[in-house]
Amino acid sequence: MKKPVILLTVLILVILMTVPGFAANGQYYSGYWGVTSNALIAVNGKVLTLERNPVIIEGRILVPARTTFQVLGVTTEWYSSSGVVKMVKGNKAVKMTVGSKVAHSGGSVKYMEAPPILVNGTVMVPMRFVAETFGENVGWDAKNEMAYIGNKPAEIPSRSGLKSNRTYKVVIDAGHGGSQSGAVYGGVKEKDLNLDIAKRLNTLLKAEGIKTYMTREKDITVGLYTRSDLANKEKADLFVSIHNNAGNSKTSGSMTLYHPDSGKKKGNLTAYEFAQIVQKNLNKTLGSKNMGVIQRPNLAVLRTTNMPAVIAEIGYMSNSAELAKLKTDSYRQKAAEALRDAVIESLEKMYK
Ligand SMILES: [Zn+2]
Repeated sequence: MKKPVILLTVLILVILMTVPGFAANGQYYSGYWGVTSNALIAVNGKVLTLERNPVIIEGRILVPARTTFQVLGVTTEWYSSSGVVKMVKGNKAVKMTVGSKVAHSGGSVKYMEAPPILVNGTVMVPMRFVAETFGENVGWDAKNEMAYIGNKPAEIPSRSGLKSNRTYKVVIDAGHGGSQSGAVYGGVKEKDLNLDIAKRLNTLLKAEGIKTYMTREKDITVGLYTRSDLANKEKADLFVSIHNNAGNSKTSGSMTLYHPDSGKKKGNLTAYEFAQIVQKNLNKTLGSKNMGVIQRPNLAVLRTTNMPAVIAEIGYMSNSAELAKLKTDSYRQKAAEALRDAVIESLEKMYK
């Protein structure tokens, strides 16, 4: 009876790893269709900070090879000219090729359900296949959307200052979407930049143990009141709306918008203070020009949310230098990190 149990477990994992919550914008990776995932990855009881999100291909989760497996003492060798990735620990080794489902390990040929892929210079490998090659167990924690190798983390870590016994709730709102592109410059649509930063922020906040809600996880049209309704219904602590700006081609920098109503205070934090903290972190982390913290009484998502809420205008798409930055993964990642730091600082102040 052992085999059916294993098969069932695998089946459940495959189903869980392909639920719509995971799906984002799909694309081809090394010849295979895949979607990025917000799942947390943990090894030996610790949640990892990965340089890029996992990718799901054919129901299998792929993770950055080096960062994920070095924790287990596995060394990764990458031969870019041949596309070969070799992973070694002690007397165990596996040799794979980007875009190929055939692996060589222990003198035999093995078949993987998803191939290793190369994403902007990062080699990503099928997590379960590689872990099992090195004799490690892989598990799935559906509640926290977390795949783990070895021990499951006892708790999702939080930074000092946030209390582990409190559930912090943050709504992340990717501006525009679907039929509403927002600003469009040089073929780049604001809605896509906003969603990418929102997804990165979601991953970072979840890694801090913060409960997150996204108003959209893909390219769909969402009404403004639907966005604020979600935050009010869930009694969120904070509402962060992510946008990018447009204006004069010479203008650049970050700007944060808030509603002046003092009733939008929660705990020790007003909307204005939240906006100041967001603006400070954007300027500091991005090195962007300070375009100010601006009162906007008439914007629907700010007016109709009951908690401290901001619209973070990360940069100006109408400025060619800033647009070039916004087009890079690293700048959008930094923007997400700035927002994460701002959220944590604000939650600490709220509940001090
Ligand atoms: Zn916008």
